[in-house]
Amino acid sequence: MAFVLEIETSFTQKYIKNYIVSIARRFNIYATIIQSESKIICAFTSEHKKLKECLEVIAQELPASLFLKSSKSYENDEEPSSLAELENEYPLNLGLCPSCQKEIFDVKSRRYYYPFSSCSCCGGNHSFVESYPYVRKNSSFKFLIPCQNCIEEQNSVGLKESHEINSCHDCGVPVRLVNKKTERYANDAGSFRTMFEVSAKAINDDKKVLIKTTFGYRVFYKVNKLNNASILMMINASKITDYLSLITEEYNALLSIERPVLNVTVKDEELQELLGTNTSYVKYPDDGFSILLCTELKKLGIDFIAYEEVDEGYEADLFMDYDLEIRPQSDMRVFLNKDNLFIANGERVSFPSHNFKENFLLSIAHDYMGLPFHKKILFDNIKKFDLIYTDKINVLKGVDEKSHNNKKVFLQDEASFISVIAEHNVFDKRCVGAYFDEEPSFLYYDGKNVLRIVPPKEFNSSEIIEDIKNLRDGSDRLICNLQQSAPEIYIKLLALQSKEDVKLFEAVAILLGLEDESMRGVTKEAMKFIGKGGIQIDTHVKDNRFDNTAFLASIISYQLAGVSSSILSYSIFESFGDYFNDILQELKVKTKATEIVLCGTHFANQSLFSRMQRNLKMTPPLMNKNYPIGKENAVVGGVFL
Ligand SMILES: [Zn+2]
Ligand SMILES: [Zn+2]
Repeated sequence: MAFVLEIETSFTQKYIKNYIVSIARRFNIYATIIQSESKIICAFTSEHKKLKECLEVIAQELPASLFLKSSKSYENDEEPSSLAELENEYPLNLGLCPSCQKEIFDVKSRRYYYPFSSCSCCGGNHSFVESYPYVRKNSSFKFLIPCQNCIEEQNSVGLKESHEINSCHDCGVPVRLVNKKTERYANDAGSFRTMFEVSAKAINDDKKVLIKTTFGYRVFYKVNKLNNASILMMINASKITDYLSLITEEYNALLSIERPVLNVTVKDEELQELLGTNTSYVKYPDDGFSILLCTELKKLGIDFIAYEEVDEGYEADLFMDYDLEIRPQSDMRVFLNKDNLFIANGERVSFPSHNFKENFLLSIAHDYMGLPFHKKILFDNIKKFDLIYTDKINVLKGVDEKSHNNKKVFLQDEASFISVIAEHNVFDKRCVGAYFDEEPSFLYYDGKNVLRIVPPKEFNSSEIIEDIKNLRDGSDRLICNLQQSAPEIYIKLLALQSKEDVKLFEAVAILLGLEDESMRGVTKEAMKFIGKGGIQIDTHVKDNRFDNTAFLASIISYQLAGVSSSILSYSIFESFGDYFNDILQELKVKTKATEIVLCGTHFANQSLFSRMQRNLKMTPPLMNKNYPIGKENAVVGGVFL
């Protein structure tokens, strides 16, 4: 007989499964643990006298995850006959698991205040991987010889089993804290603790501290120094809801092992004032360095600080550094709207990944590559792979890949669209979809090929003023009026004409007079609107493309009529929601498609997504499950084009 625990999850990474495997191995309980497309099924032999204890430990220690849904248990006739095996061909960059967090705060442990603490199932291990296969000699730890204790741990059952880059104070990485005059080193528990104490005090004294965390370079500072790129790091879990107004799902997401960045509503009025808005990107301390720093800050009575992802050369008052190469990934931003959750953008946790059935071609997009590996496809940063021989290669337009004769160039929106079709395995169905990242486009999959039905119209700002003037009769008056009543906006618009690579939403933000001149700024502004129902902004198709000029002209005319920037921002997304719906429904009828696909990072927007949800109630849209809806999914789609 077997006791079966079934956990529902549509995420295919193996860290949660491995966590359960390592606990079952620790208890020496025979088990068959497999992960299918929709669940993790764990069958433990019923006879073992410690089964109850093992299940209790799983319930207590299993990290909370964004991607775990309901679970159930039952008995069946199965008879597991061996220990379950770990599946860790590659590590990820995750937050610290409860067990590793406990270790860094346990005075008696070998890793008290050791910021590189992690195990096989958690921590920022991927940052240290140089190449495959994932073994210590292919990592930044290759010159560090593990001590006897660490080797023993690696060779014993438990969370550190086969933890390739296991280390501790005795065999690990010394860290230095540098300011303009002095340098101090940390190489044991006491000196590490002092170093984090000193850093926390410096921040409290209004200094900026740059830290090479295992997730990359971050500069930390007090919230009075906030800017548009700042992320709030909430330190005190019990006080988070004093400052932020969160639904339960958001609170749980923040504290999950994935430790994503979330865009949430700020409740505290003082904080709103500092931010200049009522929403903010927030996260809970994730890697060893951030956790230890925040613990010291908490002792000083600080409930949250700000940080920014920067590069090594950032000028800070203090710099915490070490001699070990890291290859950080962009952070994971998660979008939550009621019971919908998806990854908006970022590489962390989605990559590397080992997924789908191999099909003997290479896909290259942005910094990523997908290639056949052990009967599936392995996706990771291109720098991790050596020379590869393959018959065919698919490359995203714009990527420099000259070395191959048999290459096909694909487009971002096509690749994103088909990555969703691949994730839902609906290759046998007809699908229509929209891609939205600055300029919208519409696509169709006929069961074989992807066609761009409404291609994106690249935004060109070089003659933006002339374009608006010539839009229709009387449009020239619109520009005259703008010049008279909002000269500062007119001057900025004029400057856009000589600037390169201007984004559509950069122009929108400028027209609205926003300080954050980007999509992020317009999104924040829309969140300030609390009324119901906006106004209709001109979103239409001209010559089979989205008409950027008519869209901008419409915003100017409302602006001149005195409509507030928050109503306008909200209305822009509401109008976009209706625009996407109208075209998708029309295409669906024309093509007899059964599925609707949404992709592109701009769909991670509360105002727009709520509208889309309402409009598409009858045909809930398919979206990425394991990968971001943003441009990062192109490498995945590239395999199927
Ligand atoms: Zn761990
Ligand atoms: Zn050691």
